[in-house]
Amino acid sequence: MARRHVLIGVGPGSIAAAEEIRHADEGAEITLVGIEPEGYYSRPGLAYYITRELPESRLFPFTARDFARLRVTILADRAVAVDPTARRVTLESGRELVYDRLLMATGSQAVAAKAPGADLDGVVKLDHMDDARDLIRRCRDVGTAVVVGGGITALEIVEGIRARGVRVHYLMRQERYWRNVLSESESRIVEEALLREGVRLHHFTELAGIHGSDGRVAAVETADGSTIPCGLVAVAIGVRPRKELAEAAGVACDRGVLVDEHLRSNHPDVFAAGDLAEAWHEETGRRTLEVLWNAAVAEGRVAGRNMATEAVHPYEKSVPLNITRLAGVKTTIIGTVGNGEDRDLQSITRGNSETWSELGDAALVEVQSGRAHVRLALAEGVIVGALIMGDQALSFPLQELIEAQADIGAMAGSLQEPGAPVAELVTTLWRDWGARRD
Ligand SMILES: Cc1cc2nc3c(=O)[nH]c(=O)nc-3n(C[C@H](O)[C@H](O)[C@H](O)COP(=O)(O)OP(=O)(O)OC[C@H]3O[C@@H](n4cnc5c(N)ncnc54)[C@H](O)[C@@H]3O)c2cc1C
Repeated sequence: MARRHVLIGVGPGSIAAAEEIRHADEGAEITLVGIEPEGYYSRPGLAYYITRELPESRLFPFTARDFARLRVTILADRAVAVDPTARRVTLESGRELVYDRLLMATGSQAVAAKAPGADLDGVVKLDHMDDARDLIRRCRDVGTAVVVGGGITALEIVEGIRARGVRVHYLMRQERYWRNVLSESESRIVEEALLREGVRLHHFTELAGIHGSDGRVAAVETADGSTIPCGLVAVAIGVRPRKELAEAAGVACDRGVLVDEHLRSNHPDVFAAGDLAEAWHEETGRRTLEVLWNAAVAEGRVAGRNMATEAVHPYEKSVPLNITRLAGVKTTIIGTVGNGEDRDLQSITRGNSETWSELGDAALVEVQSGRAHVRLALAEGVIVGALIMGDQALSFPLQELIEAQADIGAMAGSLQEPGAPVAELVTTLWRDWGARRD
C-alpha cells in the first residue's frame, strides 16, 4: 500500500518536503492542507507587492504544471486536531485524514501589541497575503500612519506605506534602527535613506496606547506623553511559531516544536520544519529558531527525505543568510554579525536568525569600499560573519568563504590593518580558496 503523507501548511517547508518525498517515492500519497486560499506564495515578496514593485501575480513560485508534476493534493482547509496515536488529522470542514507520516509546517505569526487600543480597527500586521491587501486598501483612506517595531518587517512596512503616499512616523525604542544586528554606520545608512523618503523617525520612543474614535484608530500616544494623530498603526514587534495545534496534540514544544537532528518530534511519525521547528544542531549542541525562507526549504527537504525513507538523514544547518533590501539599499547578511537583544522586538522577527546576534569577541573590520559598505567578523582564523550594503560584488565570495569556514591564516592580520584594501584581500582569499578546493 502507498505510504500516506500529510503535510500541514502550504509554505516553503511543506513544498520542499513534498518534492523530496516524491523524489524518493513515486507511489506515495501526498496531501497538503493550508488555511490560505492562495496556497503557495512568496511571503518575502509581500513587501515588494506593497511598494508596487511586484504585481500579485508574480508572488507565486509554482505553476499549475509544477503542482501536476509533484502529484500532490492540496486542501484549502484548517487542521484543527491531530491524534498521533490514531495517526489522524481532523480538518475544520469535518474531513479526517489518516497518515503514515505527518509534517507540521504551520509557520509563524506576528506578536500583537499589548498597548491599550491594540484591538482597534486600523491596527495592522503583515503575516499573510490578506494582510498585504488590507494594508494597501487602508492606505487609500489615511493620511498618516505610525509604524512600531524593528528588524526587516517593520522597515518593509514603513517603505510600503510611504510608497503609497502616506505620511509615516516610525517609532523605535532604541537610539537607532536594528542595533543588535547593524553597526552604527549601517543603521545610519538605513535611517538617512528613510529621512530622504520623508519618514519621521522617533528614537527612544515607546508606544503607550492607541486612541480611537468610533472604534477606529485616531492617534497614538507615546510613553513620554506625546500624541501623534494617525489613521493606521502597523505593528511588527516579532513573530512566534504557530505551535498551538502541535501542543494540543501532545507534540513536545518549547518556543516551537522540538525536533531532533532528523526533524522528528517526540512522536516518531510526526516531523516539523520551517518557522515552526526548533531544530537541534549537533555541531553547536543547541536549538535555534530561524525565520528564513531558505532555512525552511533546507529543513523541509531533510524532513521529507526522512519521512519517505527508512534511512536517517541529519539536518546540517548552513550559515544563516539573507539577501534583502533595507530602505532601498541592497544588503547581504551572513553568519554572526551582531550582538545582544533588540529592545524594539519582543521575539525573533521575520527574515532573521538568532545566530546573527551572537558575535561574542570576534574582531570586526568595517570599511567603505567603493560603492559597498562592508563589515567582516573574524574569529579563530576564519570569517564568521559579514554584512555587505550597496554594491554586492563581495556577497557571493563571502557566502562561500563563511559557509566553508575557509582558513584565512595570515590574511586575518592584513584585513585588520588600517586602510587595508578589504575588497581586494577578500577576492584574493576567495580565489585562492577556490583553487585549493578544485
Ligand atoms: C512580510 C514578510 C517578509 C519576510 N521577509 C523575509 C526575508 O527577507 N528573507 C527570508 O529569508 N524570509 C523572510 N520572511 C520569512 C519567510 O517567509 C518564512 O521564514 C517562511 O515562509 C517560512 O516557511 P514555513 O514553510 O515554515 O511557513 P509559512 O510560509 O509561514 O507557511 C505556513 C502555512 O501554514 C498555514 N497554516 C498554519 N496553521 C495551519 C493549520 N492549522 N491548518 C492548515 N494550515 C495552517 C499558514 O496559513 C501558512 O500558509 C518574510 C515573511 C514575511 C511575512
